[in-house]
Amino acid sequence: MNIDELLLNELNRLKKMDKYLQSKIVAIQLPEGLKTKVDLISNELKGKDIIFLGDPFWGACDIPPKGNYDILVQFGHSIIPNLGEFGHVIFLEMQKELEFNIDISKIPFKSVVLTSNVTYSNQLIRVKDELERNGIRVDLRRGDSRVFYPGQILGCNISAARGNGEGILFIGEGLFHPLGIALALDKPVLSFNPVTNEYVDMEPIKKKFLKQRYAAIDISSRANNFGIIVSSKIGQVRYTLAKKAQEMLMKHGKRSFIVVMDLIRNEEIINFPADVYVNTACPRVTIEDYSTFSKPIITFYELSMALGEKDKSKYILDEISLVDEIGSVSFWGRDKSPGHN
Ligand code: SF4
Repeated sequence: MNIDELLLNELNRLKKMDKYLQSKIVAIQLPEGLKTKVDLISNELKGKDIIFLGDPFWGACDIPPKGNYDILVQFGHSIIPNLGEFGHVIFLEMQKELEFNIDISKIPFKSVVLTSNVTYSNQLIRVKDELERNGIRVDLRRGDSRVFYPGQILGCNISAARGNGEGILFIGEGLFHPLGIALALDKPVLSFNPVTNEYVDMEPIKKKFLKQRYAAIDISSRANNFGIIVSSKIGQVRYTLAKKAQEMLMKHGKRSFIVVMDLIRNEEIINFPADVYVNTACPRVTIEDYSTFSKPIITFYELSMALGEKDKSKYILDEISLVDEIGSVSFWGRDKSPGHN
């Protein structure tokens, strides 16, 4: 099934939903890879007023305050259960029905914890059966309340990987999610990409990445001026963590200030007088966008290591389970996103 067919399937599913049928103005949030499909979507949803939201977004954590539309349709992500229901939001996950088989000879484990991103989480039961038929024990488990599907991993949450198995098998495209698992757990991680049929051992990638992280930690241990970034996105707000970082910095005689922002890019922070930024928003910013910043950007846990509050020998991944209520109620001067039940 190609991407257009997958999109048409999801749009057909949408067209049968009560919330859609009762709406007049429909706002649409598309991941970057689907922004070319506006014509196809507009044609399929003829009869409704369609608004495409142009700001980039990377997850279901990013539900904008409700605008002048009846429903918001977000493509490519699943609901984050512990953020609660958003009455006006529909998530269309775009789960692929791609036919693929696992090459058992490539799996070096007798037992695995089976994981994926949302795109392939609909296939994990089938993969579990296939592995078990071939004598490999499989732990497919539900993560904490930030994830929806059994085995599902987010860039900020690998709780579903904390199971019983010699190693972790991740199914999905891209190496961001399996890198997170490899960083957090002391177990080998094998990533399988069903599109390219590639199997990647994450150990060398983890080692290379850790060199970069420890270099940033080292610079941070000698810095004096820190900017602490807090996201204004409803599912990323960790003001409480930012305050903890500020207290820790104060204890160590360092200066700091808190910056609240939506889109975190170098252009937006370049004029603030910080030597180092501590990012409490999406961990993807620290991991994937690191090289786009002109100042080092570190996580709360990396700051703890830089200041000697945590043991440096065991790297701690920045994960999000719960976010602050404060962020979505009074702190930003807006309601919990109107429409949030
Ligand atoms: S915080 Fe980042 S990694 Fe987590 S759901 Fe949001 S975009 Fe994804």
